Amino acid sequence: MAECIFDQIASGKIPSEVVYQDDMVMAFNDIHPKAPVHVLIIPKKHITSLAEMTKEDYPIICRMMEVANEVAKKKSTPGNYKLVINTGGGAGQVIMHLHMHLLGGRQIPGFV
Ligand code: 5GP
Repeated sequence: MAECIFDQIASGKIPSEVVYQDDMVMAFNDIHPKAPVHVLIIPKKHITSLAEMTKEDYPIICRMMEVANEVAKKKSTPGNYKLVINTGGGAGQVIMHLHMHLLGGRQIPGFV
């Protein structure tokens, strides 16, 4: 099966502005930022979407949340940021590899 674009970013085949990475997750700047801080946090393992996660993958989502908080501190938006996980094409998911958007650095509406 062909590797998706985020698999290729995770393996370094496609360059990205890496903000953080460890064995489990990677965080990098979104190529089309919707806010001054717009970071994507992905699992290195290919998981299509949140809806496709299995119970054994739950530690990954916990780590993604931890990393989001760490990245927010690093990017100077501590305590004021929004996390978004588009799940499925009908909810705006374009890249079919689980990812969390971290948005901050400006006033973000309470609901989008
Ligand atoms: P989605 O709509 O699937 O939740 O969000 C996908 C996000 O990935 C979009 O915000 C888009 O700008 C970002 N994106 C798509 N291709 C690339 C890429 O090659 N590099 C980076 N850094 N971001 C990308």
